[in-house]
Amino acid sequence: MKVTFLGVGEAFDNDYTHTCILVEAAGRRMLVDCGATAPPSVWHQSKRPDYLDGIFISHFHADHVFGLPALMKRMEEDGRTRPFYLFGPVGAQRNVERLMEFAYPGMVAHLPFTLRFRELQRSHRWDDWNLRVVNTRHSVQNLGLRLEAGSPTKVFCYSGDGMFTPTASKLYTNSDLLVHDAYTMDGTVTNPKGETINIGIKTHCSLQQLERLDDMARPKKMALIHLNRNLRKEKADILKKYKQRRWIIPEPRDVIVL
Ligand SMILES: [Zn+2]
Ligand SMILES: [Zn+2]
Repeated sequence: MKVTFLGVGEAFDNDYTHTCILVEAAGRRMLVDCGATAPPSVWHQSKRPDYLDGIFISHFHADHVFGLPALMKRMEEDGRTRPFYLFGPVGAQRNVERLMEFAYPGMVAHLPFTLRFRELQRSHRWDDWNLRVVNTRHSVQNLGLRLEAGSPTKVFCYSGDGMFTPTASKLYTNSDLLVHDAYTMDGTVTNPKGETINIGIKTHCSLQQLERLDDMARPKKMALIHLNRNLRKEKADILKKYKQRRWIIPEPRDVIVL
């Protein structure tokens, strides 16, 4: 299984592209989220319209899903004909179609390839891939994902945005790689005036909480993404602080082979 970080940024980061991860295994390629600023990173990866088999959408925030209309439109322009799979929360089809229609009116009806929506509630078998999801805590419904694929089987887990639950911790247990939202150090962020704003841990996860999750779920490796734009600048200090743990803070285009 090969994991490529195309985008690792939070919603309003001026340096880092929105969350977008490419997972390849057993002859399949799936994007994991595609925020508004992510499509150029996908096109730099490959210009082939058939390159991707599908996408997993964790939740409906612009920095995770607003890249879809551009992604689809370019596939259309470049001649894609084979179906494209979309995995996401219940309501995914309605939301994605509305988003596409708003971006490019008439687009859904005239797309020359089929969109195959799979609204996930628990688990879904996609040929040799097995996807399992649970709800986590975020400001909108968000799915945590466990993906098992390949031979020997490798396990990729992804938090989307938000704070894990006991069920999510179980879902991530013994994964080969857990990619997790790490928006704050301790539930606070600093604003441009230098003031400390308490955002808590109900909608995003903190590094402090990730220590707990790491101890419970014991992933072989954990990749921290979606760091607040100010916290991200402290990457070297964070890695130093947590050097006993198997944590990484990936840069765009970093690749992990599991
Ligand atoms: Zn986000
Ligand atoms: Zn979000």
